[in-house]
This record gives sequence, structure tokens and C-alpha cells, in this order.
Amino acid sequence: TPTAGVVAVQGNVAEHVRAIERAGAANGVDVTVHEIRGSGTVPDCDLLALPGGESTTISRLIHEAGIAPEIRAHVEAGKPLLATCAGLIVASRDAADPRVETLDLLDVRVERNAFGRQRDSFEADLDVAGLDESFPAVFIRAPAIGEGETDGEGDGDAGGPETLARWDGRPVAVRQGPIVATAFHPELTGDPRLHALAFFES
Ligand code: GLN
Repeated sequence: TPTAGVVAVQGNVAEHVRAIERAGAANGVDVTVHEIRGSGTVPDCDLLALPGGESTTISRLIHEAGIAPEIRAHVEAGKPLLATCAGLIVASRDAADPRVETLDLLDVRVERNAFGRQRDSFEADLDVAGLDESFPAVFIRAPAIGEGETDGEGDGDAGGPETLARWDGRPVAVRQGPIVATAFHPELTGDPRLHALAFFES
């Protein structure tokens, strides 16, 4: 049975634990989920979620706790990572904010709180590549992904990140190698399909 980890220094942790368990069950996989607060556990994980929350706080705490290099090694080993909202910001190359020390795993620039000027939070039905029916996406002070950076094939260096979904014309879900990243919160709606796509169907 696969071992999953949810980086649990801050943010939407319990929701991701439940979403991974639901996605596993939907795919007939019995998965053990750990909440990760210190170094030493990520190396035992086959799958990893980096939740939303506050990206300045999450980036500071994962570096202080020594989890950051372990997340990097996890992705470099080709193991799946689902990064959501603040997690996407932390996983990106550049968050345009000196307070966020990014992991530079996902080759995109992001703009924090990009939709916030219109509405702080909202829900939208998104068409997501790889899903048959639309996905209920909750956006909370969500980041946007830099335009023109996600036209690749999703196979990392060879092709760059691939857009999986757009909202308002802007990329809000991407895949690059073992990483799936969303500007929205797939853990908040009880719909396990995005976790399944990231973890159990690649
Ligand atoms: N606005 C937050 C940030 O910039 C992200 C919001 C979220 O994760 N819901 O870190």
C-alpha cells in the first residue's frame, strides 16, 4: 500500500488527508497518510501534497524544519506531488515576493492574490484536461500562473509545464512531470478526482 504525506506546517491539512483517502478508496487503493511537520518522513512517502494556506509562512517553516530539500528530492525522484494554492506558490520558480523562498520545482512564475481584487473567494466549474466532467473549484485569494509559460507537454525540461485548466483565460491548473498544481482548492469540495488524477492515475 502506498504511503502518502501531507506537508502539515500550516494550512488545509486535514482536508487533504481526507481527500487522499477518498481518492485512494475510489481507485481501490488502501493508502496510509502521514502529516509531515519535521524532516525524516518525506523520504518514506510515495505521494506528497503541499496544501494551501499562507505561502510566506509555509515557505519559511518548510525551510526551517528541513522539509524543503526532502520535497525537492521527492520530485527529482519522479514521485507525485500535488501542490494547491499557497502550495503552488511555494513550488513555483518565482512568486514575485521576497518573503516566499520558492522550491523552484514548477517552472512558472506566479502572481499572488491575483483574483482577489475582484472577489476574495469564489467557486467555478472548470473543465480540467483528463476529467470527463467539470470540476467544482474553490478559489480563495488564489494565485495566477504566468501567461505563456504553460504551453508545453508537461514533461518537464523537454516540454515545460502543461495547462490542465483555465479560469478567466488564465492557467489555474498545470502539470509538469510528477507535479500537478492548482490555484484552487480541490481538497475543499469532497470531490476526489483531482487527487486521483495527481496520485493514482499517472
Ligand atoms: N493568498 C495566499 C498566499 O499568497 C494563498 C491562499 C490560499 O492558499 N488559499 O499565500
